[in-house]
Amino acid sequence: MTSESAKVYFGSVKQGNRGKFASFAAKVDEVVKKLDLSTIEKKDKVAIKMHLGYEDGYQTLPVFFVRRIVEAVKKTGAFPFITDNPTSVYNAVNRGYTSETCGCPLIPFDGVKDKYLYKTQIDFRGVDTLEMGGVLHDSDVLIDLVHAKGHNTCGYGGAIKNLAIGGFSAQSRWQKYHNIWDAIPYWDSKKCTPGHAKKLVESCPDRCIKYKEVEHELKLEFDMCNQCMKCIEADKGVGSLQLKQESFSLFQEMMAIGTSKVLERFPPNKRFFINFLIDITAYCDCWGIGQPAVVNDIGVLGSKDIVAIEKATLDLIAKEGLIESMIPLYFRPNLDPKTNLHPFARIHGPMKDPYIVVDYAQKLGLGTKNYELIEVLSPVSTLTMKAPTHVSEIEPTFF
Ligand code: SF4
Repeated sequence: MTSESAKVYFGSVKQGNRGKFASFAAKVDEVVKKLDLSTIEKKDKVAIKMHLGYEDGYQTLPVFFVRRIVEAVKKTGAFPFITDNPTSVYNAVNRGYTSETCGCPLIPFDGVKDKYLYKTQIDFRGVDTLEMGGVLHDSDVLIDLVHAKGHNTCGYGGAIKNLAIGGFSAQSRWQKYHNIWDAIPYWDSKKCTPGHAKKLVESCPDRCIKYKEVEHELKLEFDMCNQCMKCIEADKGVGSLQLKQESFSLFQEMMAIGTSKVLERFPPNKRFFINFLIDITAYCDCWGIGQPAVVNDIGVLGSKDIVAIEKATLDLIAKEGLIESMIPLYFRPNLDPKTNLHPFARIHGPMKDPYIVVDYAQKLGLGTKNYELIEVLSPVSTLTMKAPTHVSEIEPTFF
């Protein structure tokens, strides 16, 4: 490894020893220890930015691990709190997160009504500003605590998305990010008759194309499009529709910019990134549904470099591959072994390559893709260690 590589600590769910010291929980503690929280100062307000999920989703990060990380932060003498958007915070109790279970308060990142916001200049493709959550903005330390999973819009939801989308107001998320595709024209109204537009609508198996006849206006929902190109086939000879990589990439480029604005608020020694690669679902936790895991559990990663941890996360998921039998029937994945696609791009389409955002983030100077993976308590290293003799519970204990 060169001197420019970033350290990424890794604890695998795989085990080599049945002793508690080699369990996954112990590995999580070890990764947090390696991260070295000593740069957190007494009384610092530590924002632990999570995605707390919605409604019936139960695969957000288990409170069991959240509590351990909160306890580690408290040992520094700082004041940690869990933060996310107001709705997710208010109903987090349904997924087991309370101040009692987590060990610290849960505070909406942008005030009780999504109104405590800071205008943040981005000047990207017609979007001049985003509104950053004021509570996140005001914090001294950032712990970006992440459940790694797929995402229908950009392939992957991880540490970058947790800040880029999860750090800004609902208006920024839904009106600005989720309309950025309009910055590149993809439909030529003059070439398309109303009859042809209806044919295009019918051609999409996922109903991603919407047409308003009175206004003669066609919209493509890039969020749900898996680039099967059936609409482009239907458009042959007319040429009114275009699906370009650059259109799909806009969302990821904007995410890298949004993330850079959040990170600017924190000195490098007060930024920590922890990704859990467990319960890896195809859709993000914002769907609020239970979903089958489409990749085996892998483990936990910790780093001070957001680009390195995201690259390592995606690489480990690529190495693990998909559990094809668990892919929900509503997807039309590309499982052709001859195509070289990341598992998330197999599900969400080749133009939603999850590495795109990592490239943009590196270009913006947020970190490096060049990482050194350092495994803690690896199964092989613990295999020959002596496990303590198992003692059955002889009487109930309170602590
Ligand atoms: S590429 Fe496929 S999924 Fe996307 S809009 Fe066209 S038909 Fe629909």
